[in-house]
Amino acid sequence: MVFFKGCPLRCRWCSNPESQSSAVQILWDGSKCSRCRRCTGLCPQGAVRYEEAPLAPGRIRIDHGLCTGCGICAEACPRQALSPAGRYYSVDEVVEQCLKDRAFYDESGGGVTLSGGEVLAQPEFAEALLAALGDAGVHRAIETSGLAPAAVFDRISSRTELILFDIKHHAPDRHREGTGVSQDLILTNFRTALGRAAIARIPVIPGYNDRLSDAAAFGELLRSLGAREVELLPFHQFGQNKYAMLGLDYGLEKTKALRPEDLEQYKTILEDHGLRVPR
Ligand code: SF4
Ligand code: SF4
Repeated sequence: MVFFKGCPLRCRWCSNPESQSSAVQILWDGSKCSRCRRCTGLCPQGAVRYEEAPLAPGRIRIDHGLCTGCGICAEACPRQALSPAGRYYSVDEVVEQCLKDRAFYDESGGGVTLSGGEVLAQPEFAEALLAALGDAGVHRAIETSGLAPAAVFDRISSRTELILFDIKHHAPDRHREGTGVSQDLILTNFRTALGRAAIARIPVIPGYNDRLSDAAAFGELLRSLGAREVELLPFHQFGQNKYAMLGLDYGLEKTKALRPEDLEQYKTILEDHGLRVPR
């Protein structure tokens, strides 16, 4: 997996919040921090401050709007409590990393998946990387929200052997509410994806798109677009700690995680619409 940084969507359930911004961001790990406050006096931008809390240990807060990602604070921290999320790579550096695992690809029939964030948000880099991996004979997949100009989507997706395409909601208004963006362009690009090797994926989120009536509406939408297969991604809270490390509110801490077996009926309804739904 190669994780790109930067995404035009703001899904409420995002499990990689550090990949939404394209900037290098500093994460603060409260479990490692001794509250020595050394970092607060070092930042050239004045982006680091210590915040008292009435009934708990204080915390370091980074102003991500001011931070330039220089890394001075992280290098100075004696407890490695500060760390940068994201760094700049050349295409050659990423290819070199990927090819270290060539033996695994050969043995498993796998390859490299570009994920994010959103791979389509860095189209020049993504295209060059996919071309280089293709030249090296590596199987290439992308995981995408599908939001990009149609010409960009066409260019990037034509350089892959597999497109894993997230469809977040079947209803336009609810799609915008949950992700912050319209689904019009996404569905246009989904049609293009279906002309290639593509699998639709639904992140199933309690209270958002997990009713059985949602499954039926997804079934109708996907079939009308020509999809034959859909994967279900049950909601989990693996990203919760990263929200805290970024100083962001999570908002879904009280939402119960789903297990694959919770989605049996949901799956059956999609199958009744003629879609293959792997376990
Ligand atoms: S983040 Fe590091 S430098 Fe800053 S207060 Fe915590 S331990 Fe000290
Ligand atoms: S990375 Fe640099 S700019 Fe950002 S908070 Fe640390 S010292 Fe300040």
